[in-house]
Amino acid sequence: MLAAMPPPPTPTTPQQGEPATQPPAPGTTRDAPPEAHPLTRDRSDACPGALRLHSADDGRLARLRLPGGILTNRQVEALAVAAERYGDGHLTITSRGNAELRGIGESCGTGLAELLRHTHLLPSERHERIRNIVASPLAGLDGLGHGTLLPRLRALDALLCAEEWTAALSGRFLFALDDGRGDVAGLGADVTLLAQAGDAPARDAQAGNAQAGNAQAGNAVVVRVGASTLKVAASDAPRAALEAARAFLATAAAAGTGAWRVRELPPGHTVDLATALAHANIPADPTLVPPAPAPTPATTPTPGILAGPEGAYTVVVAPVLGRVSAAQLRALAGPGGEVRVTPWRGFVVPGFDERGARERLRELGDAGFVTAPDAPWAGVGACTGRPGCAKALADVRRDALPGTGGLPVHWSGCERRCGRPHGDWVDVTATADGVYTVAVRGARERQVPLEEGELTQAVAAARRAPHGPPRTT
Ligand code: SF4
Repeated sequence: MLAAMPPPPTPTTPQQGEPATQPPAPGTTRDAPPEAHPLTRDRSDACPGALRLHSADDGRLARLRLPGGILTNRQVEALAVAAERYGDGHLTITSRGNAELRGIGESCGTGLAELLRHTHLLPSERHERIRNIVASPLAGLDGLGHGTLLPRLRALDALLCAEEWTAALSGRFLFALDDGRGDVAGLGADVTLLAQAGDAPARDAQAGNAQAGNAQAGNAVVVRVGASTLKVAASDAPRAALEAARAFLATAAAAGTGAWRVRELPPGHTVDLATALAHANIPADPTLVPPAPAPTPATTPTPGILAGPEGAYTVVVAPVLGRVSAAQLRALAGPGGEVRVTPWRGFVVPGFDERGARERLRELGDAGFVTAPDAPWAGVGACTGRPGCAKALADVRRDALPGTGGLPVHWSGCERRCGRPHGDWVDVTATADGVYTVAVRGARERQVPLEEGELTQAVAAARRAPHGPPRTT
């Protein structure tokens, strides 16, 4: 029988795969409260990057930050070349929409860096690990939300790379740019920019400086850091995010616990967002705390075809267990010149007409991608597990089972549960080689009895867990 399972632990050491965040307790906000037991960090984070490679059991590992998940077709080709020439021929997509290369040879680091530099995937060596930005993958494509995020995304990335002090941010510190639909706003970022329709705070034209409460028409953006939320003009949003990060570093230094993330700040140490924006001469208005609902299929890209405004179509696919071959990568390059990597380990390819979209979806299905929300591997994820991770108790990618829909399911090789999803999900964790526990996490938290040899049925039953009360986050 299944033993009672404790909640996933807070990560305290570097992990294989993208750092995952602690799932919130039912009824709590997703990213506002600090840790119940504040951590004390006595060193900087050891997150791998494009230049700082991590030694894994299957060779060296590089994690490539892809701000907003946005790639040009040329960069898609560069990643395919990188996988073939320097890695094991594959790319793993992380829960932040970044990419990992595994199996890198000892002498390949220089060549990889050179390739990334030439394709603008490594704009700043000092900042390569802190360019952690997720953005709504469908922004500007499907008529939902408040339009494109590209200018805001590029501006924030440029600001991060232009400042020396930003290199002091942890490789885990995360920015989220949400177009207003509430998808990446629920991913527990440290600094969230949530687009809103309506009036934005403006400058006092006569005084020439910040004047909160003086509204002008135009889109506004809510800046959220921990429990603090303020509304700023869209044009000020990237700078506001930068100042919020600067204020976090100052708060963390004052707290003296070495916090890497906002939620790790000890009680009594909160980021003073209002003062930070005022010092930077950024007009800001108080605003209600926006909800941070868990992303749902209605707000996140699910495999298939999306019709957008003016006859434009977008193709959405996902690689099985988040791992894609070089050949599959090349098959993604789209007529819009752009491919977007999602924090749900999928790809968004815009720029089709309807017929072209249907054709490409079929081709990508033939290439092995998940192309429908009810496909057997849709919603199934797994950490690295054996043989790549020394901590793994099992080869989870071999053991993972296709399913029949329902809650997302994540297979973990140990209780760290790297890359686990947000919201409600089914947790399948190895306790020994080939032995797993099954539980539903999130608002529907419960254990799932598992008899010997009943893994398939237990996982399927857990994924069909009845809907609990709606989240109040
Ligand atoms: S086995 Fe999986 S969950 Fe455990 S540390 Fe390795 S990658 Fe993370």
